[in-house]
Amino acid sequence: MKRKISILGSTGSIGRQALEVIEKLQDRFEIIALTGGSNTDLLNKQIKKFKPKYAFASDINAIEGAKPMSLEEICSNHENDIILVAVSGKIGLRPTITAIKNGIDIALANKETLVMAGDIVMKLARDNGVNIIPVDSEHCAIHQCIKDIAQVEKLIITASGGPFLHKTVDEMKNATIEQTLAHPRWNMGRKITVDSATLMNKGLEVIEAHHLFGMDYDNIKVVVHPQSIVHSAIEYVDGSVIAQLGLPSMHIPIQYAITYPERYEGIKSKSFSFSEIARLDFEEPNWEKFKALNLAYEAGRKGGSATVCLNAANEEAVFEFLNGQIKLFDIIYAVEKMMSKHNVINNLSIDEIFEIDKEIRTKTKELFQPASV
Ligand code: MG
Repeated sequence: MKRKISILGSTGSIGRQALEVIEKLQDRFEIIALTGGSNTDLLNKQIKKFKPKYAFASDINAIEGAKPMSLEEICSNHENDIILVAVSGKIGLRPTITAIKNGIDIALANKETLVMAGDIVMKLARDNGVNIIPVDSEHCAIHQCIKDIAQVEKLIITASGGPFLHKTVDEMKNATIEQTLAHPRWNMGRKITVDSATLMNKGLEVIEAHHLFGMDYDNIKVVVHPQSIVHSAIEYVDGSVIAQLGLPSMHIPIQYAITYPERYEGIKSKSFSFSEIARLDFEEPNWEKFKALNLAYEAGRKGGSATVCLNAANEEAVFEFLNGQIKLFDIIYAVEKMMSKHNVINNLSIDEIFEIDKEIRTKTKELFQPASV
């Protein structure tokens, strides 16, 4: 039987790679729906090739070859066995919740879902017996390592360190957009690539890991590993460490998440050779240079609206940076400033989460507006 799948965000980096995986596993999958944002040309090409029944785009009138359907409708459609949430940003949150409430498994490539509403999302998943399989390479690695979470003492998340790992603070301060986007190991979207340069991405991943695996922040460690061969590891109560290794490729975690618990050849990575790799390096993160990591731990430990604040301030500041309005370190300044002013609220509803998100975004933008006379 074919597994029926919908992809939210099929025109993005993860979505496109997911379709490459599905193309290799054509006899295993049937695509129910594809959704894109403004790139309707690419979406229509994908529709022509993969023939989903339904599609969504910001301009639904531009969709050709599939029936237009809203994200909410797609996510409550019981034809789906699994939905790959590969949109970036908060737009992923409500559809994911709808899918979970409808008992549809989730392959999750959207960080905001857990960073903004991890408590709500994980509880709903438990209540509805829904699997949330992480696509993020680190969490996917941890998912592959865990046999029984009750016996796991520590999660060890690896970080490549990004383009500024061995640069000085001054070099990083004056980094151009181009230098920031030149990630040494991974080819990703622009926002996440900036987050990888500041290590905010790793911070968000720590928060994700806390929710996905129910692990205390004290027991989630980050280690810098420039080669990105060890995708993450876990330490059991007896001190045994299990790591997942592989050549850096997003195809593998995507494929794992959408085919779980099966494994197929699909897009197989080049056979692994320890002797070719020869060495693996590890080092403690430079907490002074990568303050974002500290801020993320702090937000995570505070819980409630603190991670909503962290995420919103960071995302707005990253947009300002990508628009050439501010410097790289101003992103961290903005997050620090917003966090220090924020009064944490607990037990939020989804609507309240979106309200706080909006408020923080407005305030973050105001930080960088020239003072009016
Ligand atoms: Mg990652």
